[in-house]
Amino acid sequence: MASGWDPERDAPADEDIASCVACGLCLPHCPTFRLTGRETASPRGRIAAMRAVAEGEAEPDGIFAAMMDECLACRACETACPSGVPFGRMVEAARAQVEPRRPAALRATRRLGLAGVFPRRRLMFALATGLGLAQTIGADRLVPRRLRRSSPRVSLDELRRPLPRSQGTGPVAALLTGCIMDVAFRPVHRATLRLLARSGYRAVVPDDPGCCGALAMHNGQPEAAREMARARIAALESADVIVVNSAGCSAHMKDWGALLADDPDWGPRAAAVAGRVRDVIELDLTGGRVTGPVAVHDACHHLNGQAVAGGAHRLLAEAGADLRHLSDGGRCCGAAGIYSVTQPEMSQALAREKAAAIVATGAPVVAVANPGCAVQIAAALADVDATVRVAHPVELLDEMD
Ligand code: SF4
Ligand code: SF4
Repeated sequence: MASGWDPERDAPADEDIASCVACGLCLPHCPTFRLTGRETASPRGRIAAMRAVAEGEAEPDGIFAAMMDECLACRACETACPSGVPFGRMVEAARAQVEPRRPAALRATRRLGLAGVFPRRRLMFALATGLGLAQTIGADRLVPRRLRRSSPRVSLDELRRPLPRSQGTGPVAALLTGCIMDVAFRPVHRATLRLLARSGYRAVVPDDPGCCGALAMHNGQPEAAREMARARIAALESADVIVVNSAGCSAHMKDWGALLADDPDWGPRAAAVAGRVRDVIELDLTGGRVTGPVAVHDACHHLNGQAVAGGAHRLLAEAGADLRHLSDGGRCCGAAGIYSVTQPEMSQALAREKAAAIVATGAPVVAVANPGCAVQIAAALADVDATVRVAHPVELLDEMD
């Protein structure tokens, strides 16, 4: 089956489950276990539940779904695991496994949002315009607080101004403009394009460079993620390098080869494109001077998914920043895609810890290279009246000469 739902494929693989030896070394690194102390909220407990379902001893029922939904998919356990258990793809598969058994209304809502709205650029722009208008006149105060906290600020002015389609000369670097990034973080895109042009690339915005499908994949919609991957691959594959400035998206796109491996037409194209995906923080960029203290929040999908978090530190240090490291050991901020909406208590507990770690550095700015983390951290800092600016590393490199 080349596309569509496949209950055999969209479930944790037996060999992945078998690779866990239940040693528990991952437990202290798991944010949900640390906050709850529950084995069922630990990587080992979740894998035991996957094994029970795989062996037919349990059903992928509501209890199983709750265990998987409470996971942040931060992959800190994957980094800590000495046995190389690929927990990230296992929890994605487990969520795909439970999706057909979720209540019909919930399933329809999730599918509408993740597969119906995010891939449709015009619809995203229309919704973002509505949100921007509501924020301008203060009408957004009418929506529930947890939704408001998870909504990015939208600039109507930015939405109206198109991104430059091509600038600079050199190897072609195509920017994934994405979904949320394209409507709420356009200054980051403009800074990325300028920096790429300054750094010896022809920076281009291709036709149809929308959602990569990461959010769908993380939330039990693999067939929608495959559709989005095919559309993006067709738009991006002529470029020499595909540049992504959102940690969750770059981590997901590097796995496109595996996502489409069963598809004889698209699998080789997916693998070729995935091999040319670079998170912007991995590149050598020619930026301006960055002066003064800068704290750096490492997104989980930089730290754990790709092990490239050092790139942001390197770029900012080379630019002259006085780096202030967070004392929280790179813990998840609790944003995790739609987690801040679906699991608000756990999410906000983690956000409070992150805000405290940032404030403790004394830096007036924190560099954050993922849109979900940026929204979450800005809300958490506002909650404690901290006047710390949240900026993408490329914005800092681009603006300070
Ligand atoms: S996931 Fe890895 S570290 Fe955690 S219990 Fe299993 S083998 Fe041990
Ligand atoms: S992905 Fe994160 S939250 Fe989920 S089990 Fe692993 S460490 Fe815990």
